[in-house]
Amino acid sequence: MSGKVLVLPGDGIGVEVVPVAVKVMRKVANDAGIKLDFDEGLVGGVAIDQHGTSLPDITLNSAKTADVVLFGGVGGPKWDHLPMAERPERGLLRLRAELGLFANLRPAILFAPLAAASSLKPELVADLDVLILRELTGGIYFGEPRGVREENGEKVGFNTDIYREHEIVRIARVAFQLAEKRGRRVCSVDKANVLEVTQFWRDVVTRIHQTEFPHIELSHLYVDNAGMQLVRAPKQFDVIVTGNMFGDILSDIAAMLTGSLGMLPSASLGSTGKGLYEPVHGTAPDIAGRNFANPLATILSVAMAFRYTLNAGACADRIEKAVARVLADGVRTRDIAGDLTSVVGTVEMGEAVMAAL
Ligand code: NAD
Repeated sequence: MSGKVLVLPGDGIGVEVVPVAVKVMRKVANDAGIKLDFDEGLVGGVAIDQHGTSLPDITLNSAKTADVVLFGGVGGPKWDHLPMAERPERGLLRLRAELGLFANLRPAILFAPLAAASSLKPELVADLDVLILRELTGGIYFGEPRGVREENGEKVGFNTDIYREHEIVRIARVAFQLAEKRGRRVCSVDKANVLEVTQFWRDVVTRIHQTEFPHIELSHLYVDNAGMQLVRAPKQFDVIVTGNMFGDILSDIAAMLTGSLGMLPSASLGSTGKGLYEPVHGTAPDIAGRNFANPLATILSVAMAFRYTLNAGACADRIEKAVARVLADGVRTRDIAGDLTSVVGTVEMGEAVMAAL
């Protein structure tokens, strides 16, 4: 097995957490006999400073030939004065669009030793492992027509919630394929009682289930009920699949169940299985450059890259077990320290994971 990895640390704590995660990736790949070619590039604010654009052509071209893009974060106060279209964050949005990454995977995993950090009772969330799959390139965020117009002397704002059949088919397939690698259950979330577009979504998901994945359990929930169930009994879910806007909201609710931004990985996949892997958090300018940042979200993103792009589930399991072990041993960065008084830095947390491997 082999693969090409493009490393894009970006700005802020990205340059601290990504190298730690790369070390883990190299070791686990080496031990498993997977040959990975690493390349590194510039994106975000640092790319603006050196190339005058947040996504230089050289970075984009390298990303197009990579199997895995490992991304840190982009942005910071230094570039906040720039017009929207020239900001570092544009680089990430363009990268996602250029790579055709339509499936956004946001696992909400809560390692039992961190259960006290959640806003829910520990017994409701300990060992939580839900995967929210959000459609990322369609729906109301992109639908046309959109805007504000004048009607009968009054202003009217409007957007269009639109899904084409192929967009639902491909995200449904990803959901069922992900469930095959996990708990074999998919819950599709819609508002089919009110919105025609989501009744259509439900019909298409049901057809793909019946014709291609009858061995996976499929259920449907209205989005209001899904939000309620996520905070009532989150462990009932395995994979939740939903459209762009509902996914945006539900994935943030699920993230908060785990209580700590520094622990949350994510992946964005296209139709070829190639993917962009990144922590959910941003560049944390308030702690950047001080060896405070928690690298576990990025390390867990590497685990996702092994599982979903490199088809090396055993490597992913190995990384996740090492993280669980380190947490069980009481090793903590500041953000997840809780009442523990002894905390370690970014580099030391990385070393602890390497030792646990
Ligand atoms: P943020 O996620 O960077 O930080 C929010 C809070 O969480 C801060 O207090 C930070 O110190 C803490 N935090 C975040 N990650 C942490 C970690 N790994 N370990 C310990 N603590 C951590 O969000 P923000 O403050 O809203 O944004 C800061 C910058 O990051 C902005 O320029 C924003 O545009 C950018 N951003 C980028 C991305 C991305 O590149 N994907 C995502 C979100 C925000």
